[in-house]
Amino acid sequence: MQVDVLKDSSTIKRNDKRKRKPALVAVINDCCTGCSGSPACVDYCPIENCMIWIPDDDHPPFGRIEVDPLLCIGCKLCTSKGPEGTFLDGCPWDAIDMVAIKGYEGSHGSLPY
Ligand code: SF4
Ligand code: SF4
Repeated sequence: MQVDVLKDSSTIKRNDKRKRKPALVAVINDCCTGCSGSPACVDYCPIENCMIWIPDDDHPPFGRIEVDPLLCIGCKLCTSKGPEGTFLDGCPWDAIDMVAIKGYEGSHGSLPY
């Protein structure tokens, strides 16, 4: 399944490379349900291809989201709203952790930019 078909086609995303490392990056934890194939978070991310749909091939249309740590700018927009634009503090399933870049690099290795 392609997330692209699920996104609001009016959404224009940035595709330029980030200028500096952000203070925070979004990390998706094991609570991600993929919102049953309609990921509520992706529409709010302003960066093209930053939030990636990983399909569960054994259980379509289910899947999960992963964040590209080289594209995330740490803006937190993915944690600000939910389905139908409802305001939230975090995703509906608390599946998005905003992690300090130093902590992230400590466990995943240094990012090149
Ligand atoms: S991170 Fe949250 S909002 Fe995004 S797909 Fe997973 S459960 Fe849904
Ligand atoms: S913090 Fe911003 S750039 Fe990073 S995944 Fe969330 S919305 Fe996208």
